[in-house]
Amino acid sequence: MKLLPSEIPRYSRQIALESWGLRTQRSLKKKTVTIVGAGALGTVSSSLLAKAGVGRIKIIDFDEVEVVNLSSQLMHWDRDVGKKKTRSLGEKLREMNPYIHVVEINEKLTGDNADKLLSDTDLVIDATDNLIVRDIINRTCVEKEIPFIHAGIRGFYGQVMIVIPGITPCLACIFEEMSSGPRGCPVVIPHVSLLASIQALEAIKILTGLGEPALGYLIYIDGLSLEMEKIMIDRNPDCPVCSKLKPTKKYEFTKIQGACPA
Ligand SMILES: [Zn+2]
Repeated sequence: MKLLPSEIPRYSRQIALESWGLRTQRSLKKKTVTIVGAGALGTVSSSLLAKAGVGRIKIIDFDEVEVVNLSSQLMHWDRDVGKKKTRSLGEKLREMNPYIHVVEINEKLTGDNADKLLSDTDLVIDATDNLIVRDIINRTCVEKEIPFIHAGIRGFYGQVMIVIPGITPCLACIFEEMSSGPRGCPVVIPHVSLLASIQALEAIKILTGLGEPALGYLIYIDGLSLEMEKIMIDRNPDCPVCSKLKPTKKYEFTKIQGACPA
């Protein structure tokens, strides 16, 4: 079936009412998402979640905006050079959506403060490029049973993985070594934005219970060929981080028909 342009908004409204609705929007307003890293991934995912109406967004970063960041970090602009990244991003998120609460945390996430900084949150976005911080996110979220969405990128190669502690594999189930590694790998902004968009989309699905999040998969995207692979992954029964965890939280997702009729 072909739609006339004048008919498209009618269908859009219909789909929105069926699959989204005021109740879902209100539930999103009550949620808190913590984003670790206000760089290439974090500026995009936080902007999308702010626009979508997540009620409270905490951003954690301790860096300042540098000239070298401007080509790969969407929400840091020329005028922001020298500013704290949390302030630069926080200002823009509040302008994008003045009806949400944005919390700026100018601290480096460490093993000592992770418990406090990642508390009172419904979901964490791993938007860091630091493997040690990533390991801290993984351990803390598993211990506190907070779902988080990991993304990693190097050049044109990137990956996304959802971790729901006790239900899906955690990062330590899949990646053996997370204690060291290179930082500041070059990224291409459309590709990093694609990965951050997937993080935001999966975050919304987990927060609202709509759809089918890609649980138990490592999503691998090759930006050069645009090949996307969903690799099925299992929990490691000997995982040093999550093997003993039995989840106490329940997650239910509702399948919806979201596609626009064509
Ligand atoms: Zn594990």
